[in-house]
Amino acid sequence: MTTAAEVAEQIAAARRLLVLAHVAPDADSLGSALALAMAVREIEPGTHAVVSFGDEPFAVPRMLQSLPVSGLLVSPQEAAAAGPYDLVVTCDVSSKARLGANEHLFDAAAATIVIDHHSSNSGFGRTNLIDPGAPANTVLVLAVVDALGAPLTRDIAHALYAGLITDTGCFKYSATTAATHEIAARLMAAGIDHADIARRMYDDEPFTAVQLLGEALSRAALDVTALSGRGLVWTAVSAEDRANLGLSEDAAERVIDALRITTEADVAVVLKQSDDMVWKVSMRSKGAVDVSAAARALGGGGHRFAAGATLGTDVALALADVRFALASLE
Ligand code: MN
Repeated sequence: MTTAAEVAEQIAAARRLLVLAHVAPDADSLGSALALAMAVREIEPGTHAVVSFGDEPFAVPRMLQSLPVSGLLVSPQEAAAAGPYDLVVTCDVSSKARLGANEHLFDAAAATIVIDHHSSNSGFGRTNLIDPGAPANTVLVLAVVDALGAPLTRDIAHALYAGLITDTGCFKYSATTAATHEIAARLMAAGIDHADIARRMYDDEPFTAVQLLGEALSRAALDVTALSGRGLVWTAVSAEDRANLGLSEDAAERVIDALRITTEADVAVVLKQSDDMVWKVSMRSKGAVDVSAAARALGGGGHRFAAGATLGTDVALALADVRFALASLE
């Protein structure tokens, strides 16, 4: 079992460091990567440390635009041009394919460290700090930041807090423990504006995104008999729906949060069509159904309560595949 101290020792020794988040990053992944790179710059100002994720085209999702990027973030092209790296660290990346356009930089690195909390992670790094019990990847990264001896600056705390509230559902999910709240207290004591961070991430959308949410919810369907009576609720957001409102792909990410409150359904499913017309699925469970198992059967991954996968170009087939994967768990 690799410890945070062993990981910190390798990171402190690196001269050229690349920290990678997963494609279509969430705040847990990108916040972890930014916090780690900022911590390295604090203790080793001579280290070339940059952060990237493998999306093409490269753009920071709207809900993450308040994260402290402070000159650290580079596109896959910029990351490749600035290589090679003597160490590549991945944050919250459950499989190598989730590195997208940056996968070749991971393969080319002299040394690699995987920091993750997905139970499905195979340990694809040379060094692996994987704890499926961690409520957020940022909890693991905070341990590494501490082991590096880096100060908990306001920006580092901001990036870590953003990940912590994302993966705990603002401390609602069952993986949240007393220790999680103690970490939150430490991060708040570092001087972050927690209310502003939460508002800009979760309560700040253009009116067109609210309209998209309304359209998606108005079309939602409920099958109370599905999944042995546990119930399934679903809806879909097409590329045309978004185009009509001038919205990008990440505008559809909020639909699942509204749909999952449905009392009569243990599982909520949102099918989202990307700009290249491929359907992706987001699944949420209240607990009885392990949606990560269904996601893995569909070629994706995730956690017991939140998971996803990429499907085909036909929405009816995509829904049928999702329903079959969920029904097959029983
Ligand atoms: Mn995570």
